[in-house]
Amino acid sequence: MDTATLTRPAVLILLGPPGAGKGTQARMLEDRFGLVQLSTGDLLREAVAQGTEAGKAAKAVMEAGELVSDEIVINILRDRLKAPDVSRGVILDGFPRTTMQAEALDHLLAETGQKIDAAISLEVDDAAMVERISGRYTCANCGEGYHDSFKTPEVDGVCDECGGTEMKRRADDKAETVASRLEAYHAQTAPLIGYYRDRGVLQEVDAMKPIKDVAGTVQSLTADVIS
Ligand code: ADP
Ligand code: AMP
Repeated sequence: MDTATLTRPAVLILLGPPGAGKGTQARMLEDRFGLVQLSTGDLLREAVAQGTEAGKAAKAVMEAGELVSDEIVINILRDRLKAPDVSRGVILDGFPRTTMQAEALDHLLAETGQKIDAAISLEVDDAAMVERISGRYTCANCGEGYHDSFKTPEVDGVCDECGGTEMKRRADDKAETVASRLEAYHAQTAPLIGYYRDRGVLQEVDAMKPIKDVAGTVQSLTADVIS
């Protein structure tokens, strides 16, 4: 782990369409900098699995590839930010996804005197996104992400991180929902690139490159902004 001293909790945002590599890069940032990945997609999937009220409301929306209501997502994130493990800092993965969520985040951070260190936009074209989503799978035990072509485990079917042998694919990673997820991204989330550019925290990264090249860029700019 990088031993750079932080004087306050870091706040990084990973922006980008579904399949851009946000989760992949977030896990690598966790390992290197000791930050905590907060994925609203993961938090919502947990809520669905637990059958909470929020999960019940979100299930069909997620299956259709649309965005869950701002109210539900903001409440889930606000609660998660209260947990003690986020004290060193967070990597927001998949949040914010609308201007209203971005404004809510500004308010939440202002309450605790925090600020956004960087909004890193992972730029990929639509065709790459479809290819990445359709080959994605994860270890059911530890959540490590893999891809049929671009990131395979060293031993077929065995997780490099934990040795787990059960792999799973997401219910919404199918051709029927990709179009609506992409449409939601372009209509509702892409405007956040301008939102963060205007605030002077936007960092644009070419995410068409291989995972390790993207990681090199993302980690070096992270080291610059949080030290
Ligand atoms: P997101 O969190 O943005 O939806 P993921 O990190 O889950 O995206 O990545 C989607 C899929 O693409 C995964 O299977 C991952 O292994 C793969 N992937 C991520 N980054 C790259 C990259 N730079 N090149 C090729 N494949 C990638
Ligand atoms: P993800 O894991 O980020 O690809 O998100 C999976 C699904 O969860 C999305 O297609 C949305 O339905 C929902 N979701 C995740 N994050 C958000 C968010 N910030 N706002 C609204 N919906 C979200």
